[in-house]
Parts: sequence; C-alpha cells; structure tokens
Amino acid sequence: MTVAIVLFTSDLRLHDHPPLRAALDGSDAVVPLFVRDDGVAKAGFTAPNRMAFLADCLADLDRGLRERGGRLVVRSGDVVAEAVRTVAEADADEVHMAAGVSAFAHRREERLRTALEAAGCRLHVHDTVITAHAPGAVTPAASEHFAVFTPYHRRWARHPLRDAVAAPRVVRVPDGVDSEEVPARRDVAGVSPGLDTGGETEARRRVTAWLRNGIGAYEDRHDDLPGDATSRLSPHLHFGTLSPVELVHRAAAAGGPGAEAFVRQLAWRDFHHQVLSARPDASGADYRTKHDRWRPAAEARDDIEAWREGRTGYPVVDAAMRQLRHEGWMHNRGRLLTASFLTKTLYVDWRVGARHFLELLVDGDVANNQLNWQWMAGTGTDSRPNRVLNPVVQGRRFDPDGVYVRRWVPELADVAGRAVHEPWKLRDPDRAALAYPEPIVELSEGLARFRRARGLD
Ligand code: FAD
Repeated sequence: MTVAIVLFTSDLRLHDHPPLRAALDGSDAVVPLFVRDDGVAKAGFTAPNRMAFLADCLADLDRGLRERGGRLVVRSGDVVAEAVRTVAEADADEVHMAAGVSAFAHRREERLRTALEAAGCRLHVHDTVITAHAPGAVTPAASEHFAVFTPYHRRWARHPLRDAVAAPRVVRVPDGVDSEEVPARRDVAGVSPGLDTGGETEARRRVTAWLRNGIGAYEDRHDDLPGDATSRLSPHLHFGTLSPVELVHRAAAAGGPGAEAFVRQLAWRDFHHQVLSARPDASGADYRTKHDRWRPAAEARDDIEAWREGRTGYPVVDAAMRQLRHEGWMHNRGRLLTASFLTKTLYVDWRVGARHFLELLVDGDVANNQLNWQWMAGTGTDSRPNRVLNPVVQGRRFDPDGVYVRRWVPELADVAGRAVHEPWKLRDPDRAALAYPEPIVELSEGLARFRRARGLD
C-alpha cells in the first residue's frame, strides 16, 4: 500500500485543495497532518484570537475528514521532526503541502526538503493554494516582482486562473498513526468576546450569503463604516478555510461592478504576498525607506498607550481601536485611519502599530499586515507616501451620522449627529459631562511634526 502525507498549514480546507487531490490520486491512503509548530510560537505568532479561530478550523477539518471516512492527525512540536516521524510511522513516500510566502515558510520548506530527502521521501510543494496566482507567476519584464499595484493588477486579471478542484468524497487514512486531541476554542484564554467562528463550513456559508446578498453593493458600500458591508472573509482567507482561486471564480461569475471591485481586493492580497515573497525582509524593515527617525518609544509611550486603548480623544480612531479589541477584527477604513493616525499624526514607528494589530487581529497576516502598515506609513508601495488622513474628515465622510462611533464609544452615545466627531466643540456643561478624553494631540501640530520629519517644508 502506498501512503502520502498532506501537511496542512494555512490551507485548512477540503474544497479546492490541490495537495490533498494530488496525494489521493497518487497513493492508496493519505495522512492529513497538522503540526502545532513550536516555531510559530517562538516567532510570537500565537495570538489568542488566532489560536481560538485555528481550533475551530481544525475541529471542522477533522469533522469533514471523518464524514469522508478519514480523520485529522494532530501533533505538537517541531514541524520538521513531526513530519519525519509521521513519514516513518505511516511508511509514506511522499509529502504534499502548500507553498508559503514568508521567510518563515521558505525556511520551513527548505528544512523539510532536506530532512525528508534524507528519509527517502519526496516533498511536493503546490502553488496557488494560499494565493490565487503564485508569487513569481505575474512579473514585470525587468524584475522578479511588481512594486506598484495598478500594473500588477492589470497583468494579474489577465493571467489564466486554474480551475477549482472538487473536494474528495472519500479519504482513506492508514491505521496505526495516532493523533493528539484536536484543540478546542474553549481552552484558549484571552479571546476577544466578539470573535467570529472559524472553519470551512462557516467559510462556505459566509461566501454563499455574501455572493447572494453583499457583493452587489460592495463597490458603493465598502467604505461605509457603520454599514459593515464588506465580506469579512479575511480570517477565512488567512487560515485557508476558503480557497482564493475558488473565490475569484465564484465572485467573477457573480458579475457587475461590485464583483469587479471585490476581485480587485483579492488581487491586493496576492500583490502583498508577491512583494513579501520577493522581499522577505519587508516584514520588519522599510520596503522603501524615507529615513524616518520615529519618536523614541519612551517619549511616545503615553500616546501609544492611548492609541492602543482607544482613548486618543478622536472618536473615529477610538471606535476603530475598540472594535479591534472587541472583535479581533477591524473595518478596512478603520485600519487605514488608525494606521495614519499612529504613524503620521503621532509619528510613531509603523512596527509598533503592526505588532499591536498582530496581537489582536484574527486575520493577522505577515504579508497583508506588515505591507499595509508600510503602505500607510509611506515606507511601502504607496505612490503618495506623505498623505495624511484627517480623522475628523474621515469620520464625517465614512460615518456621517456617527453611528459607528456611538456603537463603539459608549461615552459619546448621547451626543447627537455629526457633533460626535468633534466632542471638544460641544459647549459646557454638555462637554464637561462627557467621560471622554480631550484630544491627545492637535491635528495641526501632528501634521507639522510629520512634514518637518519628512523634510516637506
Ligand atoms: P473585503 O473588503 O471584503 O475584501 C475581500 C478580501 O480582499 C479580504 O478578505 C482580504 O483578503 C483582501 N483584501 C482587502 N483589502 C486588502 C488590502 N488592503 N490588502 C490585502 N488584502 C486585502 N488584511 C488581512 O487579511 N490581514 C491583515 O493582517 C491586515 N492588516 C492590515 C493592516 C492595515 C494597517 C491595513 C490598512 C489593512 C490591513 N489588511 C489586512 C487589509 C484589509 O484591511 C483587510 O483584509 C480587510 O479589512 C478584511 O475585511 P474583509 O474580509 O471584509 O474585506
């Protein structure tokens, strides 16, 4: 009997899973393996929200496999050592897995290849599992990656997309390969109370609802803060409970301007993945440095703390930061304006903000988080690196009636209409009665500091 191992990482699904398909086609039995990798913990990438969501995903994957006659094998430890051990136990001659893009994923792949070869086993790494198009598949003539989104998107949209692969009907797992218990969400402490449910079943339910009821209005409503009219599929794309290839096909089939705008966002996701793949150092270093000399952490400590806790005195900033803490997720418009506020108005290093987001975001992703932070800080791929978003203007524009602010900042619940975006303008005694902080910085002073620092005056 021939046996193959499928090593799951950020691809926790059964639908459109080329490594699983290849393993089933080439062998009599497969071991679906997930390793709770010590290396991920050492890299500090085990935020409670993501661990809880991961537990849901693994439980659902196990359920899906059991429905097909199989089961998930879960191990803990070093991913390479556990893969080699499983190969020996199952007498497997092949391992299939998805290609990753980060430096961590590249190192993992190299170590696996070496160790498996030494054990007489072949490693097959599959593209287009984690992204719609592989990093390196869509490239400009003179470079290995695109540094500007618009030309990337033009080429990306024309690049042939492979067909989605059907989910298997039967998965045969050999006897004698034991598993730890599948982790449970209830065992994870410190989880945001409003965290979404993980797993492929939930992902597929959401996509169907989104394609039916949401995508049509996406172009008009994606920036509507209180309307919450985006797909909220980001955690599912991050954990791979949803295939980006399948999602592009299904969204494109929906047609219309909403679908077009939505697919463009999926191209942004691929774009950041191909940048990180080519420039793995961009997870921690400026992609295009502006020679910033960010405020020293000690000097900015109180401002950073106020930003993290959502008490900067700028209502829309505070609302978004509190949404992040409560849900482990934040609306894209909120991410943009809170990142601009930290890096430009407060002139604090983007890495401080990126780290805080990664501690809480359920979709927290090295490619999307670090490169969007850099985009907003003006050290990344943005063609307008010195643009500053004014939080009052942003609030009035994207939350015109203050519904989003009042939802997340109860201290302002009784302030009517647009005045909620500038509570400091209220007259006493209304203003004195609010248990809400004064702004921690004057916007004009913040802007002047930033312009001086960037040598713009
Ligand atoms: P939708 O608007 O429904 O978009 C659909 C999908 O397209 C998203 O799920 C996401 O996969 C992708 N997408 C949308 N916008 C972007 C973008 N700007 N860059 C890359 N992909 C995009 N996204 C993450 O997935 N993980 C992160 O850690 C992350 N950190 C961010 C940090 C900052 C400072 C900023 C400005 C943005 C960040 N984003 C991140 C991108 C974006 O905000 C989220 O993907 C989006 O808000 C998720 O909500 P949604 O699924 O409803 O998005």
